Amino acid sequence: MMLTPAHHFRNIERKPEYLQLEKCMPPPYPGPVGTMWFIRDGCGIACAIVTWFLVLYAEFVVLFVMLIPSRDYAYSIINGIMFNLLAFLALASHCRAMLTDPGAVPKGNATKEFIESLQLKPGQVVYKCPKCCSIKPDRAHHCSVCKRCIRKMDHHCPWVNNCVGENNQKYFVLFTMYIALISLHALVMVGVHFLHCFEEDWTKCSSFSPPTTVILLILLCFEALLFLIFTSVMFGTQVHSICTDETGIEQLKKEERRWAKKTKWMNMKAVFGHPFSLGWASPFATPDHGKADPYQYVV
Ligand SMILES: [Zn+2]
Ligand SMILES: [Zn+2]
Repeated sequence: MMLTPAHHFRNIERKPEYLQLEKCMPPPYPGPVGTMWFIRDGCGIACAIVTWFLVLYAEFVVLFVMLIPSRDYAYSIINGIMFNLLAFLALASHCRAMLTDPGAVPKGNATKEFIESLQLKPGQVVYKCPKCCSIKPDRAHHCSVCKRCIRKMDHHCPWVNNCVGENNQKYFVLFTMYIALISLHALVMVGVHFLHCFEEDWTKCSSFSPPTTVILLILLCFEALLFLIFTSVMFGTQVHSICTDETGIEQLKKEERRWAKKTKWMNMKAVFGHPFSLGWASPFATPDHGKADPYQYVV
């Protein structure tokens, strides 16, 4: 065939450094298939540990300061089961959000052979990421923390030490939802505890000394209020961006919509899985993202 692939590099021609395709070699040691995804970022790891520590602190105060010393067993058992279940789901969602590949584009695949193998139509443009030497599918962005291009990247979240992208957005949304729910639940329990204990003798209300009890409860109150505000705002923002099918980055950059507009319900199903089921609320159910072509280019 005499067809030259000149049109493939239309956008690349303007920037001479993009032409150095020879530099793009596949990574020398491609990790074995199935290795766990984990970002080695000190700040992110520290934030993830702090998140766990704060949930465990809430767990400690709820159980040992409020529920176990209470003499109302039915109240303690019902609230204990509910709080522990929600906290468990929050931590499980955190793990899935942190350890799931958010949709990383293969590194170093921007080789001449690969671009030729795509058999692009005339007028189609491919974007190459100069930082990780990958061919960027549409709506992918490079993350400088993950050092990879991530499909439908929303933002990099240090609290889950990972990017929020196409494959782990469900877990991130569940994480914000369950943290908001345990925060609200803890606040209600602290309120009930204060009301109840003001009427009674403090020493009968907690196994700790009154000043320690008050300090532990006030700290929990402060933590729960802060997290309730932060995570419910995040949850609302995420659900909005899923419904409108526009990632955080696209909203910031005010990018023009190039992708087909779908209904809100279709967009929700694309993230949480088909069809609607109880699995939407479970961090253990892996959503079926469909067998969409991962390489969609701008025409
Ligand atoms: Zn990149
Ligand atoms: Zn990232």
